[in-house]
Amino acid sequence: NLSQDHLAVRTTCAYCGVGCGVKATPRADGGFDIAGDADHPANAGRLCVKGSALGETIGLEGRLLYPQLREQGALRRASWDEALDRVADKWQSIIAEHGPDAVAFYVSGQLLTEDYYVANKLMKGYIGSANIDTNSRLCMSSAVAAHKRAFGEDVVPVCYDDLELADMIVLVGSNAAWCHPILFQRIARIREQRPGVKLVVIDPRRTATCELADLHLPVKPGTDVWLFNGLLNYLAKRGAANAAFVATHTLGLDDALAVADLEPEAVAKACKLNLDDLLGFYESFAATEKVITGFSMGVNQSSAGTDKANSIINCHLLTGRIGKPGMGPFSLTGQPNAMGGREVGGLANMLAAHLDIDKAAHREAVQTFWASPRIADKPGLKAVDLFQAIEAGRVKAVWIIATNPIVSLPDADQARRALQKCELVVASDIVQDTDTNAFAHVLLPALGWGEKDGTVTNSERRISRQRAFLPAPGEARADWRILAQFAQRMGYAGFDYESPQQIFAEHARLTAFRNTPQELPRVLDIGGLAKLGAAAYDALEPVQWPLKAEDESQQGSARLFGDGHFSHPDGRARFIAAAPRLPVNERDEDYPFALNTGRVRDQWHTMTRTGRAPKLSEHIPESFVDMHPQDALLSGVREGELARVTTQWGAMVARVQHGGGIARGSVFIPIHWNGQTASDARVGALVNPAVCPVSGEPEFKHTPVRVERF
Ligand code: SF4
Repeated sequence: NLSQDHLAVRTTCAYCGVGCGVKATPRADGGFDIAGDADHPANAGRLCVKGSALGETIGLEGRLLYPQLREQGALRRASWDEALDRVADKWQSIIAEHGPDAVAFYVSGQLLTEDYYVANKLMKGYIGSANIDTNSRLCMSSAVAAHKRAFGEDVVPVCYDDLELADMIVLVGSNAAWCHPILFQRIARIREQRPGVKLVVIDPRRTATCELADLHLPVKPGTDVWLFNGLLNYLAKRGAANAAFVATHTLGLDDALAVADLEPEAVAKACKLNLDDLLGFYESFAATEKVITGFSMGVNQSSAGTDKANSIINCHLLTGRIGKPGMGPFSLTGQPNAMGGREVGGLANMLAAHLDIDKAAHREAVQTFWASPRIADKPGLKAVDLFQAIEAGRVKAVWIIATNPIVSLPDADQARRALQKCELVVASDIVQDTDTNAFAHVLLPALGWGEKDGTVTNSERRISRQRAFLPAPGEARADWRILAQFAQRMGYAGFDYESPQQIFAEHARLTAFRNTPQELPRVLDIGGLAKLGAAAYDALEPVQWPLKAEDESQQGSARLFGDGHFSHPDGRARFIAAAPRLPVNERDEDYPFALNTGRVRDQWHTMTRTGRAPKLSEHIPESFVDMHPQDALLSGVREGELARVTTQWGAMVARVQHGGGIARGSVFIPIHWNGQTASDARVGALVNPAVCPVSGEPEFKHTPVRVERF
């Protein structure tokens, strides 16, 4: 409709880390047409089915519209002043009596960078604790930790355009066809144009992504480190190392090789792979200079997640295939703003602007910049530990923002027990009734997608604007505003923000603060965006960081480490000695299958948004347990019938299905369905709470389970 097109608002999709640009165009009937933004580099006008259905999710049914307080078990309406006063009074008394570590934020990759920035500043610089963690802990914290170990900084070195330049694309633990659809469609088009580009998929399941693959390696769950250590060993022994790059730009190869002394035969056995297929992969990797290795939740969500990611990065360092066009390791993030949260330090073990909480000079710099009364001096509690500390009574107040941990955390019944015992649970959300909100003492209405304004950063470091095109419903407020008003009630200066643009400018200045080779150098520097006025911020085009103030082109940086200089103080990247180890909880007679969890194509997280779009429920209308027909036979269950799935941690009921590409010995259940469905299909309640010791990311891909007739 040409007459309306000039009214279109350009924004960014609310879902995955591909970060597609969206145009919302008002219709005469008051609704909005949602279309891809042809000018956004991430998607060039395309949207997947979830993105296309965003318009169906913006109605006000079920919205949380005004603050509420729970009294004698029932919720009653309250004013903002009363609700925020109640929270501030309680937090002040808890902090006075028990110290700052007795309170916590648990936030979300759905937050905008500006919201994240304010929450992090408030907790670390003013309350003086680092107890702010995020559901991004469940998603890509292993990739963050691996980047830090290998490069000295949490930096993704590649960009989407590198896919066009690659001759081989390896996807590890990624069902990109369903979870990053626009990126996967791009890979499909690349292969149509250049059929010689190889696609290798490494995944225990034969997923939709495998349909395009030249080679699918159905690796035994949890054995990725064997596979990539074996590749490292193979590359070193076959003369595929880039000796000059290794000698000049890296450290630690000997130690990494010492734990990688695995011949292909041993790898094939450990990973339960066909030896010829494995050798085919190794030979192709060795012979192909331009290789991108994309990795996602199948790598990250593991008790060895950081080692898995580092074992992949090791192979790129050995071959010097990093920082150059068409090559490099590529972490595919799950959420729309998982990376923006990392930039402002919204994880319990980070500070802000890629500065480290465990370094005194870094703490002093951030405290000086914020002019804050204090600064957290030790890491806070990571997600799983945080909910255990709540149950144990060490954390007495938690403020949950834009996430539904009663469904999404591992050992989700433990999370439920924790909230039942917690003295004060505050929930900021857009939805009135979620599993988590049922335990909240204070409910605060937040703005949702289409109503809020700010920025997000996608998997390729591209900062894009989310813009409002809808009015604020009811009394809902932006998360940054709620937090700033709370901070003022706590008596803290430094939160007199009036717009997200002011917050973004402060964040941009902090990235550039003392960011010189002599002081605290880091790649993350968006000083070039620090002086954006309100109009320029509003008009900001998608741009990749870093973008320094002195960068004359102001075009941002597509790829990093091209000069071989990394962020460790000596400029060298590190090989990491990743000794292979199996998942923490192994299968046994009582629990003979390995539970793998993940997304389905048309749903998102705990369905609080996508569950409202009828079109999205057509693809898969209910939860299921996918298992191999022979395993079903042995378990006495049949396709189409309900089965009880039990682990040491919990149980649920789901309908048995076959055909999801699952190998014998494993079962797959999607993550989305929740306790409000008839079968209480919260798979989180089944998942073991084992975490990666480095990243704290839970082992969502491997919990021993039993399946029985219901
Ligand atoms: Fe949204 Fe991701 Fe789909 Fe793009 S690929 S439209 S960002 S869900």
